[in-house]
Amino acid sequence: MEKVLSRNFHYLEEHGEVMSLEAYRAAGGYDSLNSIFGRDREEMVQSLRASGLRGCGGAGFSTGLKWSFLAKDAPRPVYLVVNLDESEPGSCKDRQVLYRDPHTIVEGVIASSYIIGADKAFVFIRGEYKVGAAKLEKAVQEARDAGLLGDDILGSGFSLDIDVHLSAGRYICGEETALLNALEGYRANPRSKPPFPAVKGLWGQPTIVNNMETVCHVPFVMHKGVEWFQNQGMNGGTGTHLFQVSGPVKNPGVFELPMGVTARELIYDHAGGLLDGRELVAFQPGGSSTPFMTPDQLDTPMTFDAVAKIGSRLGTGGIIIMDDSICPLKYTRNLIEFYARESCGFCTPCRDGLPYLVHLFDKFEQGTATEADHKTILELCGLIGPNTHCALAPGAVMPVQSALTLFDDEFKKHIAAKGCSYAPTSAAGAVNVAAAGVAGGHH
Ligand code: SF4
Repeated sequence: MEKVLSRNFHYLEEHGEVMSLEAYRAAGGYDSLNSIFGRDREEMVQSLRASGLRGCGGAGFSTGLKWSFLAKDAPRPVYLVVNLDESEPGSCKDRQVLYRDPHTIVEGVIASSYIIGADKAFVFIRGEYKVGAAKLEKAVQEARDAGLLGDDILGSGFSLDIDVHLSAGRYICGEETALLNALEGYRANPRSKPPFPAVKGLWGQPTIVNNMETVCHVPFVMHKGVEWFQNQGMNGGTGTHLFQVSGPVKNPGVFELPMGVTARELIYDHAGGLLDGRELVAFQPGGSSTPFMTPDQLDTPMTFDAVAKIGSRLGTGGIIIMDDSICPLKYTRNLIEFYARESCGFCTPCRDGLPYLVHLFDKFEQGTATEADHKTILELCGLIGPNTHCALAPGAVMPVQSALTLFDDEFKKHIAAKGCSYAPTSAAGAVNVAAAGVAGGHH
């Protein structure tokens, strides 16, 4: 496997700064544009479909298929919007490219914009990535000065500029239509779909919204070929992916690996395994909104299809580890609290349902929960899931639903013990619980 998106990451450590345009071009940067400019756009979209490249922001939708929804005679201007909001706990991959190799983003945006025929591109960056946004601004300006952006780029007849937009914040800004509202200066509520952005997006114009990593793969698929891209994957996956592992492991981080690497290889070979003495209880494979996987599922290939087949979602490929040093109910409550806080407030099941779930979990912790509360959590998840305006709330309840199945005993124990009597299985886990003040039934 060849490193693609992380190929230049070493440069920052070695030189104390990211690659200048000159250094980037000396390493082959922007060469892909020679393979793209002048080529038939329709044929390139078909190649992308054939390559198997799928959206890396969580949904995993075929990139080529998404781009084929853009009408050939779409009214101008057409926009490309790159989603670098990355606010899902456990997801921190796009940040690495932004901070370490911003020209890779610029190259991906130019290549993608050419293929879809975009007149202007926007990169929407979460507010906390302020320093990274400044690095990208600098790279964009270098590209402008070198004629890689602006009118008639490299004599191709294609013109483009990139607007770097620093978000005012909120997790919901990562939802593509909420992002468009935020970009237009409105409150970031998701829009009704249809119409989808490819038909009516930014300022009512045809718009393609894609995650940053997805866009950055595009020049490589075009330059090195579909077959090359497919061969980068394994176990049914195509291409590489920036996987992330966070939580109590020895070497947490971001790892560019073949799509299809197993969860076991990721957690134990690359992230170094769990901290000494700790035991793996469960893990979320793709960020905090994905259902739990268990140790007996460690050999699952990390592909969208294989993970979906066992009832979870690959999401962003950001694995979060739950070890035996934390009560599973406390862990799950923490997740819902995040989503309750980040609800945009537009629809009742999410706005009121998620805080009520937090309240119910608090009852388990405080020792006032009954079997009826246990049942209400189950029913409320079923009610929230299919009845909301966007995917935030259904995503929020997915780990809760899997916790209800996996940790049924713990819910019952909390009711019987009138509070948390969670006991870690390993001695190291027990030490951690005691240190955190969560032993003896008091969180
Ligand atoms: Fe807003 Fe939540 Fe409804 Fe989505 S599900 S529109 S975030 S209130």
